Amino acid sequence: GYRSRAAYKLKQIDEEAGLFSPGDTVVDLGAAPGGWLQVAAEAVGETGTVVGVDLQRIDDLDDHDVVTLRGDMTQERTRHYLREAVGDDGADVVVSDMAPNMTGEYSLDHARSVHLARQAFDVAEELLGPGGDFVVKVFQGEDLDDFRRDVEPSFEYVRTMSPPASRDSSSEVYLVGKGRLTAPVSAGD
Ligand code: SAM
Repeated sequence: GYRSRAAYKLKQIDEEAGLFSPGDTVVDLGAAPGGWLQVAAEAVGETGTVVGVDLQRIDDLDDHDVVTLRGDMTQERTRHYLREAVGDDGADVVVSDMAPNMTGEYSLDHARSVHLARQAFDVAEELLGPGGDFVVKVFQGEDLDDFRRDVEPSFEYVRTMSPPASRDSSSEVYLVGKGRLTAPVSAGD
């Protein structure tokens, strides 16, 4: 079984959006307790590489060869270790299920969620190769449209997805950026 019910969200997103291929390198941000790591590791197979980061310790995944790092993705130090773990070839897919500790104060929780999502986007910009894909959880709210607009130029297209496994829970949605563009699209003439 999976370590988290969240695993089913990533499975559903992968089925709809086609994220993972055998041999891919995947970066998973906010990876504890490890459900998404299990889904990604199954999908990329033995020739693939999966690297997970979380504030919390992640117990070893027995059946899978997964690298886990403990750290805060808002700190440069953690990003440095992540870059080293991923290596020069970069990543094919960056996924983030990071969520702030909920205060119950809606606008604060939203702002913190967008802040974490922006950290994940920075990582995606840094590590994703051409054609790579990005998935990021964000709580809905007033800053979501701005964030989406900032992500759009970096991908062939961006979709907002609400996988069935996530619909009972609150206001979260997933932005899915498909096909990393590494150079700005020419505006024409
Ligand atoms: N996708 C995971 C799974 O399937 O097991 C569940 C992730 S859980 C919803 C969100 C995670 O984000 C928590 O484990 C939390 O510790 C982590 N997180 C929140 N802020 C973070 C940060 N600044 N750096 C790293 N991880 C963070």
